[in-house]
Amino acid sequence: MGIVLDRKELIKYPFLKESQQLARRHVESLEEFLGSSPGVAALERAKERVVAALTFKKEFGDENTQNLKPEIEIASYAIARMLVSCINDRSLVDRLARYEAERASFFLAADEPEIRRFVAWSVGIDTGAVAMPVIRYVELVPHLRDRRWRLVNREIRQGGVNLEAGEIDELIRERIRAIIADQLPLRVPAGICERLAPVTGEIVALRQQQVLEQFGEIKEEAFPPCISALIQAITAGTNLTHMGRFAITSFLHTIGMNVAQIAEVFARAPDFDPDMTMYQVEHISGRGGTEYTPPSCATMRTFGLCTNRDRDCERVSHPLSYYRLKKNIKKKRN
Ligand code: SF4
Repeated sequence: MGIVLDRKELIKYPFLKESQQLARRHVESLEEFLGSSPGVAALERAKERVVAALTFKKEFGDENTQNLKPEIEIASYAIARMLVSCINDRSLVDRLARYEAERASFFLAADEPEIRRFVAWSVGIDTGAVAMPVIRYVELVPHLRDRRWRLVNREIRQGGVNLEAGEIDELIRERIRAIIADQLPLRVPAGICERLAPVTGEIVALRQQQVLEQFGEIKEEAFPPCISALIQAITAGTNLTHMGRFAITSFLHTIGMNVAQIAEVFARAPDFDPDMTMYQVEHISGRGGTEYTPPSCATMRTFGLCTNRDRDCERVSHPLSYYRLKKNIKKKRN
């Protein structure tokens, strides 16, 4: 496509190959760059990006980028991706991908039509499309939660899914998110992760604080009956089904347990296999690339895992809601 974005435009879309080329021309050695004052500024801005992603900040127009050269601003995008890759927590990776996609979408909404067309084209979408081949559509939408994106809810004509006004913008945003998420985590050399450790440490602390604020301290006595039953089964040496292992691991991970703490729960089994457990726990809690959310009560029921229901179960539709509810009840009693 015959359009050249200037440096100021490129900072809005740092994931474009043109943006990356611009930053690469400026940064020859990453080690040296991180030690330079532009490198320090880029790292600070990279931290801002990750923190904004973590805290769901949406003030994209107010970013403190005025003093940064475009090359440095774009480098900060690359460093932000390194920060989350060094931390290697899938939820953080997903949040950064979502944040960057929303940021790009914010700028795209106000940009010239030819720039919109170019950016959309760069991610494989035609802004003028009023319909999309079914196969392409199905590839694009699996992570869009709204029911209207489900194929059964769409109007299909001659092998094409009709698109409503404005939906193409949502699909561009989703495509940008998916591209960024698929590229992460990057393989960052250990030496660079060490160098970034003071900043990754701050980010991890912020993330832990968020989990703590959301779920508070871990209280086993507030676990829903289904999760307690799974723990009892482990302790008794019963082999859990895949879904059972998945349910308990994703639940414990979501309420803030780290991989070692979850492995300790599995270590209660008489035939505990540390290597296999660590592999499974790391995979389910996101190190394998996708972070999984715990199953709802309906899914637990389908898999025969909704056991020992009690009165509080009537008030919830998710084991996580049960946990929150029970913790609140206990808090009020104390
Ligand atoms: S109703 Fe939900 S929270 Fe209660 S035991 Fe069943 S799955 Fe667990």
